[in-house]
Formats: sequence, C-alpha cells, structure tokens
Amino acid sequence: MSRIVHVNGEFLPEAEAKVSVFDRGFLMADGVYEVTSVLGGKLIDFAGHCVRLARSLGELEMTNPHTEAEWLALHRDLVAKNDIVDGMIYLQVTRGNPGDRDFAYPAADLPPTVVMFTQSKPGLADSPAAKTGWKVISVPDIRWGRRDIKTVQLLYPSMAKMAAKKAGVDDAWLEQDGFVTEGTSNNAYIVKGNRIITRALSSDILHGITRAAVLRFAVEAQMEVVERSFTLTEAQEADEAFITSASAFVMPVVEIDGKALGLGKPGPVAARLREIYLDEMRKAAV
Ligand code: PLP
Repeated sequence: MSRIVHVNGEFLPEAEAKVSVFDRGFLMADGVYEVTSVLGGKLIDFAGHCVRLARSLGELEMTNPHTEAEWLALHRDLVAKNDIVDGMIYLQVTRGNPGDRDFAYPAADLPPTVVMFTQSKPGLADSPAAKTGWKVISVPDIRWGRRDIKTVQLLYPSMAKMAAKKAGVDDAWLEQDGFVTEGTSNNAYIVKGNRIITRALSSDILHGITRAAVLRFAVEAQMEVVERSFTLTEAQEADEAFITSASAFVMPVVEIDGKALGLGKPGPVAARLREIYLDEMRKAAV
C-alpha cells in the first residue's frame, strides 16, 4: 500500500516525494532523526522525542524548523492520513540543499529538509519476541564520539546488525574499552537481584527516551537503579538483561555471545518493566 509522506510542508504519495541530490543529508549524513511509536493511533512519549530533536539540532547548529505544537500536528496528520493504529513515525531534518557539495556548512538561513513517513506495524506491542527474548553478540564500538546526537549516520550500527544476522541472533551489543556501551539501536541493561544497571549518560551513548521513562518507572516500582558501565562478562553472569528503545519498548535479552543468562528465558524484572512501561505510556499517549 502506498503511503502518504511529508516533505517540507507537503503531504504526498510516497512515489511523488522528492529530495535533491545535493541534500546534505544524502551527501554528508548531515541530519538528525527521531522515531516515535504509535499505539492505538496515539503517539508514545511525543514530548520526550521533541525535546531530544531540539537538542540534536542545537548540537549541530541547525535551526528547529517547527514548534512542538507544529511537530505534533504533523505527526497526527500523518497518523490520520495513513490510518496508522500501531507503528512508527520516522522524522528526519537535514541541513538542506545548498545546490552543490561542500564540506563547509551553508548559510544558517538555508531552509532545512524535513521528511516524515509512517511504518505500520500492527500488534507492535504484542511482539512474540518479548516472550522469548533476544539473543545478542558483541562487536567493537567503533562509532564516532558524539553518539548523544541522533544523527542519520547509521552505517556502523547497520554493519553491527548484519553481523548479528549472520551469527543467527537478534542484535549486537557494542563494546568499548572492555565495557558495553549500548545496542545497535537501543540502550542496554543488566539486572542483579532487585538492581538494574545501565551505563550512565554521556556522549558515548544515545540518551534514550525510553531509557528515561523506564528508569523513572523502575524507581517508582521500588527497584534500585545504578547508572554505571558494565562488562560483557558481568552481563553474561547477570540474572537478566534487557534493552529499551522507542519501537521495541522493553525487550528481554536471554543470550550474550552464546552464553545463556540465568535460565535462558526472559526474566521477571524485564517482563514487569515492559508491562509497566506499556501501561503507563498508553495512558499518557497523545
Ligand atoms: N541507542 C541507540 C544507538 C539508538 O539508535 C536508539 C534508538 O534508535 C536508542 C539507544 C534508544 O533510544 P529511544 O529509547 O529514544 O528510542
């Protein structure tokens, strides 16, 4: 089914949407993005994604082309025009089309390119994988040093995902200086007893919107949250592990580099956090 997509203020059938070959997103990966989930036709944690979008743009000296209210209206229009019940809205803002290729940024008043599209995923929150959990392998984290900016330069995460696929598993955890940073497109956690351990925020990882909400809910549910780095060996010996992201929510991890965690099944902490997260976020959806 052909989608209606959004490009620079226009809603168009996907086959008619066009972006210049000189667009800096295309030539330089000079752009940022957000992915917001839709459940029951409503946006999950929309405000959080808007705040991070503004931060990513600011870090790259790009002007935010819309207010939060305008972004919300665009998201809602796309949901309605594409009849999305469950799925995702992808949004990308690039530094625009300067009409030629040049390393230097174009003038700040060049209009950015805004592209948005939907991905329909019926039953997104009922993924069977949540019942069985993910298996992951580790790969070295050789990404650039500003992973806190959600840029569209995703080649290495794609390579890591392909390494995972070739190994017959679901994802890769990235390792730097002996410690896990995060997954290819998610934040990583281990559980020991009632304690949830996840790497502290820095430019080494993306500041997950789901991470912020899940840690808040964990504390409210009397769990202990410790923000510190952990090694792969520590993860393999943990009671449980899981990842979070806007589209996978809370997903148990049951195997790391071929070693089963605990009983090799999703653990109770990840299951509980997934349930709380989905319940609370559905209630707060806009
Ligand atoms: N870490 C990376 C590298 C990501 O790409 C993502 C999401 O795309 C996340 C973490 C999770 O962030 P969020 O919970 O905001 O989706």
